[in-house]
Amino acid sequence: MTKLLNGVDCKNKLKIKLKNKITKIKDKLSITVISVGNNEASKIYIKNKIKECNSINIECKHLHYEKTTTNELIKVIKKLNKDKNTTGILVQLPLPKNINEKLVINSIDKLKDIDGLTETNIAKLYNNEPGIIPCTAKGIIDLLDFYNIELVGKNITIIGRSNLVGKPLFHSLLNKNATVTLCHSKTKNLKSITKKSDIIIVAVGKPNLITNDMVRKNSIIIDVGINRINGKICGDVDFKKVAKKCEYITPVPGGVGPMTVYEVLSNTLDCYKIQQNKNIR
Ligand code: NAD
Repeated sequence: MTKLLNGVDCKNKLKIKLKNKITKIKDKLSITVISVGNNEASKIYIKNKIKECNSINIECKHLHYEKTTTNELIKVIKKLNKDKNTTGILVQLPLPKNINEKLVINSIDKLKDIDGLTETNIAKLYNNEPGIIPCTAKGIIDLLDFYNIELVGKNITIIGRSNLVGKPLFHSLLNKNATVTLCHSKTKNLKSITKKSDIIIVAVGKPNLITNDMVRKNSIIIDVGINRINGKICGDVDFKKVAKKCEYITPVPGGVGPMTVYEVLSNTLDCYKIQQNKNIR
């Protein structure tokens, strides 16, 4: 029978352990989220992050700019880098087109980079060294681990090669000794690849991209996609039909999304530990 990989349940259970660890720290953990412009989805994500931080005694400040420049943002970040009371800094993506996203992200101190998107942290992930891992990739690894799903030697297909999700996930799974195939918009005959996969992870942003005929019986499906159709949220998988065929599947909403938010909290504690020269692995 198909089992749901319940991200809400997993997040709540992991949060209890994390809260216990945070309670034992004498310093107050504090993060600053920076946003620019008027992205409606970003507003919801930030509201969620603030709520989750508050629930676990992490202070979450929000700096919002209707309009700004790359240089102004970098100035703000450099000030936060020096601020002793700021544990972590997160720039909500996407930024408006006039801003150089790469320069802005890389101006964050690697020790305060709770999203794990600076080039230094990405290089650490690439080299399988301890560092901050991007939240969605780490959330998926923790979700699979929570359900005791073995990764060693498994054939795992990721669909979507973004810097935010697909590429960090590729390295995270490789570091767990999985055999990973990374597919994208130019991949030919996707079905021939997904059909051979033990685990399929889709992060594209197209409803019903993964259909029943693309999935092997008893496979595991992780749906990262978030699509809004007539006010309802769905993922990239034709859930009703695919769910009947696989062993495990994530719902959307309630699968990867909650895990991504959880990792913001977990990465904040990791940043604090790194700043204190403590091990995070
Ligand atoms: P993106 O637009 O940066 O990347 C999409 C990727 O999909 C690209 O690499 C592209 O090559 C690939 N692609 C496009 N069409 C394809 C096709 N027909 N076949 C195969 N590959 C194709 O997007 P992103 O930032 O990686 O986000 C992807 C989706 O995941 C979006 O729906 C986003 O909202 C969602 N998302 C969810 C979470 C979460 O926590 N659940 C986090 C981040 C992103």
